Amino acid sequence: MNLILLGAPGAGKGTQAEVICKALNIPTISTGNMLREAVKNGTKSGLEAKSFMDSGKLVPDEVVIGILKDRIAEDDCKNGFILDGFPRTVPQAEALDNMGVTIDKVIEIYVPDEKIKQRLSGRRVCERCGNSYHVDFKPTKVEGVCDACGGKTVIRKDDEPETVNNRLAVYHEQTAPLKGYYEKQGKLVTVEGQEEVSETSKLTLAAIEA
Ligand code: ADP
Ligand code: ZN
Repeated sequence: MNLILLGAPGAGKGTQAEVICKALNIPTISTGNMLREAVKNGTKSGLEAKSFMDSGKLVPDEVVIGILKDRIAEDDCKNGFILDGFPRTVPQAEALDNMGVTIDKVIEIYVPDEKIKQRLSGRRVCERCGNSYHVDFKPTKVEGVCDACGGKTVIRKDDEPETVNNRLAVYHEQTAPLKGYYEKQGKLVTVEGQEEVSETSKLTLAAIEA
C-alpha cells in the first residue's frame, strides 16, 4: 500500500506516519527528515536546500523530487511506503504520477491554523535521530532527552514563530491545492486531528482500512 500524508506543518503527520508504519510494517519516507540529514552531512542537495528550509520556504521541486525518486527505489519500499511531507506542490504530485507510482490513499490530517501555532511552539526534535516530541502533548520521559536514542532534543530553527507563519502561508498557497488534485482521483480522506494523539491514530487507521 502506497500512502500519502497531507497536512499543515505541525498537524501531526509524522506521528501518524509512525502509527501506520507499525500497523502495516511499511517504511515512512519523510522528505523533511531526509533534507535535514542532507544539510547536516553537507551534501550537494543539502547545500541547495538549507536557506529555503531556514526561512520556511519550499525547497525547489527538482531537488526534492530527485531525493524522493532515489529513496522509493530502495528495497524496503517494494511492499509500499508512507510519504510524509511529499508531495507538497502540484508539480511534485505530477512527478510522482509520471514515475508510475500508484497512490492508494491520501490522508489529510486537518488541524486549524491557531492550533498549529500552539503546537509548533512546543515542538522539540532529537538532533541525533530526528524523532519529534511536544512539551505538552508528547513529552520525552526525561526532559530534553530523546526516548529513542538518548540524543538531545532541541527547538527546530524553522519552528520560530515568524517562520511558522511563513510555513503556514506556503502550505495554504502551494500544498493545499493538492487536496483538490487527489479528491478528483477519489483518493482523499480527511482525518480531524484530535487533542489526544491516540484518538487521531484510531481515526487514521480506520481511514486506511475503509
Ligand atoms: P513540517 O513540519 O513543515 O511538515 P518537514 O520536516 O516536512 O516540516 O519539512 C521541513 C522543511 O523541509 C520544509 O519547510 C521545506 O523547506 C523542506 N521540505 C520538506 N519536504 C519538502 C517537499 N516535498 N518540497 C519542498 N520542500 C520540502
Ligand atoms: Zn533520538
